[in-house]
Amino acid sequence: MQNISYICALLGRPWVTGLKPAKNVGSHNAPIIERLLCELSGQANRGQATFELEVIRSKTKPLRTMPGGTQEPKQRYDTIARHGRDPRVKAWILRMADGQCESCGQQAPFITAIGEPFLEVHHLRTLAEGGSDTVSNTVALCPNCHRAFHYGLQQVALKEALYHRLPRLVRE
Ligand SMILES: [Zn+2]
Ligand SMILES: [Zn+2]
Repeated sequence: MQNISYICALLGRPWVTGLKPAKNVGSHNAPIIERLLCELSGQANRGQATFELEVIRSKTKPLRTMPGGTQEPKQRYDTIARHGRDPRVKAWILRMADGQCESCGQQAPFITAIGEPFLEVHHLRTLAEGGSDTVSNTVALCPNCHRAFHYGLQQVALKEALYHRLPRLVRE
């Protein structure tokens, strides 16, 4: 039952009271639990929890080989177009950021229900524009900075500052 709570927490949904999320979901169980939860709630299953679980697994692996990522992430069509992303890229970026926003330098604003500092991963050239899902196009941002990169008046300047400061980034 605590596995179900854990998948709920990964999906950002409330979990069953009294059943704190426990992190021992087997990799073959996660997609099954996610599918059941989505069926029960009538929501589209986008594999989000399964992806996030893969991110958490990848974060525990040594940083020896940088993930290659995907130059042209495949579009997957359900109700909205989505791109298939590599959990190892997200894991790598989160470990590089080490709990701090790569734009403003502040600590992540909170710890998630499963004990991770909450940061969002942003693609500088968006996947919709044809950007790659690679570590050279991806940054970890606090939610405020993330919104500013999408909606802010200073979004171009914010992006330029990152290209100057972080040597791993490559313009696309
Ligand atoms: Zn920030
Ligand atoms: Zn973004």
